[in-house]
Amino acid sequence: MPKIYIVDVTNRDGVQTSRLGLAKLEKTIINLYLNEMGIHQSEFGFPYTHHEKNYIDANLDLAALGVLSPIRLSGWCPMRKEEIEDSFRSGKLKNVNLSISTSQLMTEGKFSGRIVRRPEENPSLPNLLDIMAGNVELAKRLGAEIVGVNAEDASRTDDEFLVRFALRAKEAGADRFRYCDTLGYDDPLTIYRRIRMLAETVGIPIELHCHNDLGLGVACSVAGAQGAIDGGVDAYVNTAINSMGERAGNADLVSVILAIKKASGLAGKYQLDERVDLTKAWKVAKYASYAFGVPIPINQVGVGANAFAHESGIHADGALKDRRNYELYDFEELGRGEPEIIDTGREITAGEYSGIKGFRNVYGKLEIEFHNDREASDILELVRYANVHTQKPLTDDELRFVAKYPDLARKIMTMTPLSQG
Ligand SMILES: [Zn+2]
Repeated sequence: MPKIYIVDVTNRDGVQTSRLGLAKLEKTIINLYLNEMGIHQSEFGFPYTHHEKNYIDANLDLAALGVLSPIRLSGWCPMRKEEIEDSFRSGKLKNVNLSISTSQLMTEGKFSGRIVRRPEENPSLPNLLDIMAGNVELAKRLGAEIVGVNAEDASRTDDEFLVRFALRAKEAGADRFRYCDTLGYDDPLTIYRRIRMLAETVGIPIELHCHNDLGLGVACSVAGAQGAIDGGVDAYVNTAINSMGERAGNADLVSVILAIKKASGLAGKYQLDERVDLTKAWKVAKYASYAFGVPIPINQVGVGANAFAHESGIHADGALKDRRNYELYDFEELGRGEPEIIDTGREITAGEYSGIKGFRNVYGKLEIEFHNDREASDILELVRYANVHTQKPLTDDELRFVAKYPDLARKIMTMTPLSQG
């Protein structure tokens, strides 16, 4: 029986969003947390973008060391030869999603007559099908193990062309087809029908990439995954932590997992990747909120302050008698319930102007000791840079990471702008 896997795109779609961003160290911590949570894949950035190179490289080093494992790290790349070649130049990248628009509207609007969709439309112009197939073959030649082909604006692309595009992708060696509801235009019944039809006709594993412009991001992702499974192929749902993503955001990671595990028509009928560990949900959501600087809404699914709060007489009485009266799932399942300790008296934080005494105090609380003064001052220097880099007090796990992998932390934080001259 085919399964549903999660591909989290926080470190790609989340960070490309207006007003939102993460430091490279924060992106690294998110990859580590997603790995702990048993998430199948993190779309961790743009491997051809110069300022991401050291981050991408260091995270692939962490994968090679077995630290970022078994999670798959995959890059996002437009279907352009130069960017694809650049992405694979280090020889470390193994997974990539290649993207191109497939709707008539975007093809005309973005390529303004220079590219047609089908060869028969104008044989003298380049066409989308050949461009896509050529790029898939190129990525495979350069060493890609898993290539996903993204149909941008798939939800506004006609069935006939989408089938033809996906069939050609499969023929060219693509491992997955990503159906992008780029504008959040689909509804659950429509996406179920289309994905099932694609799965049955093409027989390629399908990724669902749904946005939330109509408030249907999670519903469409889950319905699309059902369509893929019912059509006989694996489904890969794209999610983002706390729904971070373009405009109204992507499908929320925790909501998608809960929906697959708990919804009346899905629980026990559709199989989610068994490695997913929901007890990490609270930690992941809190960290993303801190790193992005975006509070978690009070009524956020599973991780909001009110997700397990009851006040009105009948609800409170019912929940106290038996929590199943008013709660679909336990807070412990999401890793909630531990008290959080907040210092209210004197507190020493580590920052860009820290000195050695305060620094030793901070690490002492984490029970991390240094072998000698030289090591301590090296790590202190890195911690100062990390704080310049994130512009927030470092979290315990950020401090631990810097102390444990100083060379990789240095690489992640190193950015040298290219001279344009
Ligand atoms: Zn997107």
